[in-house]
Amino acid sequence: MSRAQPHLVARLQGLGTTIFAEMSALAEATGSINLGQGFPDTDGPPEVAEAAVAAIRTGVNQYPPGPGSADLRAAVAEHQLRFYGIELDPASQVLVTAGATEAITAAVLALCEVGDEVIAFEPFYDSYPAAVALAGAQLRTVPLEPPGWSFDPERLVRAVSSRTRLVLLNSPHNPTGKVFSPAELDAIAEVCVARDLIALTDEVYEHLVFDGHHLPLSSRPGMAERTIAVSSAGKTFSFTGWKIGWVTGPEPLLNAVRTVKQFLTYVNGAPFQPAVATGLRLGDGYFSAAAQALRQRRDRLEAGLSASGFAVHVPAATYFAMADASPLGYRDGVLLCQEMPKRCGVVAVPAAAFYPAAAGPSPLVRFAFCKRPEVLDEAVRRLALLVG
Ligand code: PMP
Ligand code: GLN
Repeated sequence: MSRAQPHLVARLQGLGTTIFAEMSALAEATGSINLGQGFPDTDGPPEVAEAAVAAIRTGVNQYPPGPGSADLRAAVAEHQLRFYGIELDPASQVLVTAGATEAITAAVLALCEVGDEVIAFEPFYDSYPAAVALAGAQLRTVPLEPPGWSFDPERLVRAVSSRTRLVLLNSPHNPTGKVFSPAELDAIAEVCVARDLIALTDEVYEHLVFDGHHLPLSSRPGMAERTIAVSSAGKTFSFTGWKIGWVTGPEPLLNAVRTVKQFLTYVNGAPFQPAVATGLRLGDGYFSAAAQALRQRRDRLEAGLSASGFAVHVPAATYFAMADASPLGYRDGVLLCQEMPKRCGVVAVPAAAFYPAAAGPSPLVRFAFCKRPEVLDEAVRRLALLVG
């Protein structure tokens, strides 16, 4: 996926171009249906969009306050209380960021000394190894094993060393669509407490859970004081290009993250901040309807992929389904993703992009289903061409 670059510092070699940019460019170049990069093909709630337009028209166009607009910070605190019973002081325990990506990178840079270790579950979102490499830290991984994507708690215990600083947990999980169970969260919490580790939680898919509700790791015993929770508006409100995210947690940890964040972007998206506050204050009906609509799209794609011969791991949450292409005779998902645009005009993302380079070929491919039903139907019709 990437060649050596003569000007790039050694610790970032191999990071190249992100798989999402690469696959979206391929979709564009070949006129394929893009089920690769996770972005919806329709806009989010009109009242949220209108709030952004109104903000631009009424002069919310200069730098917002460094930690984010007071109204958005209040809305994030209200949201955490309403959905999870977590009480936060919006002035000191909420920080607005340029999406979850900046939040995660700022947290890793703020908390890891060079040589420290960060534990994440594998497969992992592509910005994690990059953030860890930027900090000069090391990523240690604990495998999630298909079909249930469960992990062996002993492997987590063994992954901790005297250099471990952070456990980075993404639940609901990209790319598998796994929701970590209460027992799994307890096992992670136990290790964090016993070894005095900080948890960094990536909860961007918190509202895209198909059965039941998201459970934040910070709600487990002993975790509130050691968890930095990250989320963003992109997925919840279908405005992925707005890049408004936030961090919540104890003041001393947030202060560290804010110090770094100031020098990455300082601030971003002034008129989008009040609009996201409007979104966070929408009624419960919005959040449940969004998850249910997505669930129907999951089912639609899952049925089509199965009919085409893929063995689908049905996701419990997120925008994504992992599908095993080995029943179709493919052992390497990278090869399949390169061929699919030509063979059937559909783009997906190889699961290999979420594993270390040394992991070797995987027959798994990730499909995004956050698309209009007619687009999914057409994709499924095209994917049937892969058979035979
Ligand atoms: N974490 C995960 C697991 C993601 O899938 C994404 C993509 N939305 C992000 C972080 C980045 O979120 P944002 O666009 O808010 O930076
Ligand atoms: N989170 C999106 C995905 O997993 C991609 C966002 C990006 O392109 N950085 O598809």
